[in-house]
Order: sequence, then C-alpha cells, then structure tokens
Amino acid sequence: MSEPLTENITDHTPTTAATPADLGPAALCPHCDYDLRAAIDPVCPECGKQVDLEKIRQCRIPWVHRQKIGRLRALFATAWLFTRFPRWLPHEAQRELDYHEAVRFQRWVVTIFTVCLFVVCSLPLVPRVLDPYDPLPTTVLVAMCIQVLMLWPTLDASTSVHTYWCHPGNLPVERQNACVALAHYACGPLLWLGFTLVITVLGLIAKQIEHGLPIQIANGIVILVFGFMSVIAVITFYVTCLYLIGKAAGRGAGATWGAAILLPILWLLILVIGQGLIPWGFAYAALLVSVW
Ligand SMILES: [Zn+2]
Repeated sequence: MSEPLTENITDHTPTTAATPADLGPAALCPHCDYDLRAAIDPVCPECGKQVDLEKIRQCRIPWVHRQKIGRLRALFATAWLFTRFPRWLPHEAQRELDYHEAVRFQRWVVTIFTVCLFVVCSLPLVPRVLDPYDPLPTTVLVAMCIQVLMLWPTLDASTSVHTYWCHPGNLPVERQNACVALAHYACGPLLWLGFTLVITVLGLIAKQIEHGLPIQIANGIVILVFGFMSVIAVITFYVTCLYLIGKAAGRGAGATWGAAILLPILWLLILVIGQGLIPWGFAYAALLVSVW
C-alpha cells in the first residue's frame, strides 16, 4: 500500500506536523488506494487519475445514506459492498459509525433471511403437518414450532458473535464502537442466499406444475443450489469477519488466528443450541407432561 500523503501547511515546526490521524479517516483513491485525505487537487498524485474528493471523504457505506438513496437500494448496495469487499472497506472503521444503525442493517438481513428460510421450509412441511391420515407426534410438532421461533435468534447470534474480537482495549472507545459497527455489516452476503433459495424453489414449483418435474429431482436441485450457495455465502462472511478483525480492529496474528479457529466452532455451537438442544428440550418436556 502507498505511503499516506501528509502535508503541513499551517506550521513549520516538526512537533505540530499534521499526522494522518489529525486529518480524519483515510480517503483512498478508488483506482490505486493512495491516501488522499490531505489532497487539495482532484487528481491523484500516485496514478494521475481524476478523483471526486468530496465523494471519497464521505462514508462509503450505502446504508448510512439510506434517507437519501432509499432504504431498499441502500440495503442491496450495502450487502453487495460487503460481498465484493473492496480493499478500502476496513478504513471505514476510522469514521464515526453509528452502532445502532449498523445493527439495524444486520437485523434487516437476518429478518429477510429468516422469512426466506421459513417460506422454503414450510412449502414441503405444511402438507405433511396437516396430513389428517398420518399425524405427526406431538413432540415433533413442538420441536418444529420451537425451531421456527428460534430461527431468528439463532441467525442473529450467529451474525454478531464475531464482533467480540472487534473491540480491542488498546483502541480509543470511539474506534472500538466504529469497528463493532462495521463488523455488523459483514452479514450482507446472507441476503443473496435467502433470495436465491426462494427463487429456486418457486421456479421449481412452477416447473413441477407446468411440466410435471419429479419431486425427487426438484428436491435434489434445491439441496444442490442451497448447499452450493450456502458454502459461498458462509465462506464470504467468514473471510469478511476475519479481514475486519485483522485490518479494521487491528488485531494481531494471534487473535485473528484464534478467531479463525473459534468462529466456526461458535457458529456450530449456536446452531446446535438454537436448532437442536432448545427445541428438542421443549419437545422432551412436552413428552414428560403428556405422560404425567
Ligand atoms: Zn490513484
């Protein structure tokens, strides 16, 4: 990465020279990543290309500008930004990012993903649950209901657990808050997963109705598409989390490696508790009550 451009235009004594920190958050050239925070001319001295200084000095997370550009557009643009993850993204943690605003984005993504999962899982399950000739046992029904209720908290916890590594004590409180806020945007890629799933299932249902596509083949395609997209979305999310922990929060190699090992374990643990232990614990309690 290029050396930051620092210019002392007000004082000639070296003790009061402007440092990059004095000049606010990094404003990187979109073409070559050169730090233009002290630049006056709208031409990058490194690559010679024209740059909109006003634009690169603003916060570049679309969700922050949702009042101006519209909530839906901001939601998709932010999810896309955190999917393609440009190199300048960790520098956004040097700005004053609003924690509650970031959490609101994360919860929108989680809510949309929950609804998509619920719709897709309900389609084959509802006829089975309502089948009067072969009713499901009460324990299974209780477990399924609790699983549905626990879906949102499970996903909410899974998409925010990595922020634990984003507030190292050596950073000022404002920087810690900004890092935690930035980390809440990392779940963006999950948005595509939810939509892909719904579009695939609806497309296959249409094919089934129109051309009599066998149910086994339709199920196979859904599992294949969902599996493939899940792997891509989870890997993107995982890499983004680690990149933010290392680059935005400035964690050392030890902490970043620790997060790399612990994060998948924590996700698995949250999944097992939220979708296994709690629902089946309730189901077991229901069984005991019915026997008693
Ligand atoms: Zn440049």
